[in-house]
Amino acid sequence: MARYSDAACRLCRREKLKLFLKGDRCYTDKCGFERRSYAPGQHGQRRGGKISDYGIQLREKQKAKRIYGILEKQFRRYYVKADRQKGITGTNLLVLLERRLDNIVYRMGFASSRNQARQLVRHNHFTVNGRKVNIPSFQVRQGDVIAVKEKSWKIPAILEAKETFVRREMPSWLEIDGDNFRGVVKAFPNREELTMPINEQLIVELYSK
Ligand code: SF4
Repeated sequence: MARYSDAACRLCRREKLKLFLKGDRCYTDKCGFERRSYAPGQHGQRRGGKISDYGIQLREKQKAKRIYGILEKQFRRYYVKADRQKGITGTNLLVLLERRLDNIVYRMGFASSRNQARQLVRHNHFTVNGRKVNIPSFQVRQGDVIAVKEKSWKIPAILEAKETFVRREMPSWLEIDGDNFRGVVKAFPNREELTMPINEQLIVELYSK
């Protein structure tokens, strides 16, 4: 019998949702969630009783944190910033998360997961408007040009991610020039363009208590 021992996949099972944390594998039948869609742990299959409003809000926040790979302290900072901005706090929060450089690298198809994107950014493989940026949380702006450094064009992880990018949804708010290993942030996404299954209102309710 196939052995299942993958920490990232446990997170998907906990959230009862595919979070796409393992790159291309998430699109294959090796996906842990496809094989076992119940919660991890000894009592995983027994869970499913009534869950409180607080519990629902908490799960939603955990889900968002796991999708973007962010820890509590930093996630709360995004919330505080989103709350201070004009507009709808929940949407602001999602846009701030999407504007992270590691997310953009992933969205542009130069990494097969956000986790891998974070590593590649840290290892100095990307530039923003021609300048080296190795901070995964760097917030991109409209019009920014994100590019893979020319000497990194042959990095296997980047090439592989580009090859399998076809399986993913192409974000309408980004312009991607795969042949030249670059892309432009045409605009920030609006709520309709953010297709991750996150109910941000529940997160706002949780934090505003
Ligand atoms: Fe694992 Fe990806 Fe499937 Fe989630 S979606 S269970 S991370 S393979």
